[in-house]
Amino acid sequence: MAAGEDHTTTLLIGGESIAGSGPSLAVENPYTTETIAAVGSASGEQVDAAVAAAREAWPGWARMPAGERCELLHEAARRLRAVAEELARTMTAEGGKPLIENRDELEWTAAAFDYYAEIGRDHAGRVIPPIEASQLAMVVKDPLGVVGCIVPWNYPLLLLAWKVAPALAAGNCVVCKPSELTPLSTLMLAPVFAHLPDGVVNLVAGAGDVGAAIASHPDVDCVAFTGSVATGKKVAEACVPRMARMNLEMGGKDAFIVCADVAPQLEVAARGGAWAAFLNAGQVCTSAERFYVEESLFDDYVAAFVEHTRSLVLGDPFEVATDVGPMVSDPQRAKVVAQLEAASGAGAEILTGGDRGDQERGHFLSPAVVTGVGPDSALLREETFGPVAPLVPVPSLDEAIEQANSTEFGLGANVYTSNLENAIRCMRELRAGTVWINDPLTDNDAGPFGGFKQSGLGRELGREGLEAFQETKHVHLESKIERKEWWYPYREYGAG
Ligand code: NAD
Repeated sequence: MAAGEDHTTTLLIGGESIAGSGPSLAVENPYTTETIAAVGSASGEQVDAAVAAAREAWPGWARMPAGERCELLHEAARRLRAVAEELARTMTAEGGKPLIENRDELEWTAAAFDYYAEIGRDHAGRVIPPIEASQLAMVVKDPLGVVGCIVPWNYPLLLLAWKVAPALAAGNCVVCKPSELTPLSTLMLAPVFAHLPDGVVNLVAGAGDVGAAIASHPDVDCVAFTGSVATGKKVAEACVPRMARMNLEMGGKDAFIVCADVAPQLEVAARGGAWAAFLNAGQVCTSAERFYVEESLFDDYVAAFVEHTRSLVLGDPFEVATDVGPMVSDPQRAKVVAQLEAASGAGAEILTGGDRGDQERGHFLSPAVVTGVGPDSALLREETFGPVAPLVPVPSLDEAIEQANSTEFGLGANVYTSNLENAIRCMRELRAGTVWINDPLTDNDAGPFGGFKQSGLGRELGREGLEAFQETKHVHLESKIERKEWWYPYREYGAG
């Protein structure tokens, strides 16, 4: 592709920068509500071409020594860091997430490439004890082939990197599809991958129909998906007929438990809770969406939480002083408002927030703190995905754990406690893929991330995140060619 070419709105297929010939996607800035770009989505033929390009590139990429792939992935990380500011600004413009958070996302995104560059060259399976001394027995890890990577809008590049980096490190080629709400930052990645052989990474834009075309494509061997439970189930249905591998990262309804013993650090636990609930305007798959607070602490905790929440600054996501930006879209905001209204109609009290705050434009919902929510309210049962913190008093840790485990979700859970026994109980008994104790939402590239129950299938990150893109082969190698005594005819050995 030519130097200086604008990749922001073009697809990358087989190393070529190509305008999408499917329906046009209008990309909205959620703060100004202006349309900032139009992106042609991929037509059916272009999806086929992207998959074919990945398939063609695959044998060469799979054969490349892992050490060489490692260097190319480190180079991708270097290239990402070189354009990080430009990417972060584009993410803020198309998604509304505060710039400071997008800068952070970019660093984590580059780090994922560095991490998998090294993990990918570290091992290729293991040697296991053979049946006889003349043999060598091995567990060999093979790549899967073509991996379709489908991601949502809330962390467009990080969630993509958690798929692309391990998939490439394992020797697969990829076809990537960002959300229709945030395609620009992903399409801008073309130069980041320009040093790779053509077709190893393909970038296509589009809405659910393009995602469905990838998920059901006969030449896609694995689908790595992040998004809602409802869409994840559709992806699973699309994969099953051909038994394509799938890695599904879906929704959550994370609980946040505050034990009575943190009374001396109540302020910290309140600030940690507010950050976990309102980060990225509550649009994090692991946002804290239900708080269970031991009764003796409840009133003081609510007071500290509300006071801190009222101090948060809503506004232009490009401004350094902004804590909470707009939500991504009007429909997303309306969904959250409907849950809030239903809860308050049933008697819940919104202590602060839940309106537009001081903002005249943009999809703003000011961070809401709610008490008196009924246990069957959607606000405590269904994913909210907005800046709402329902606080519920509980008589004991037993009750908190029971409530925390009571939904169909099991993505993450948070706990504040200074008591070792409580910490170990929570670690053992909470049915969630990640349990954060006294440090909400901190990621770790080496720590597998994913959900129990309907929150997902499989894991990203860590060694598990690489294995998600590998097939396992048992190789049994006998060095001597000789007849085995247990073969036919049985009459020679079987008599007694
Ligand atoms: P979504 O399910 O609507 O869309 C996710 C992606 O799937 C988008 O790219 C979309 O175009 C695509 N898609 C839509 N229909 C499809 C189909 N039939 N087949 C294939 N692809 C299809 O989710 P969203 O609104 O973009 O994102 C929010 C959701 O993502 C929330 O539920 C949130 O919890 C979840 N999420 C989960 C994690 C996690 O790691 N578990 C992380 C972030 C977000």
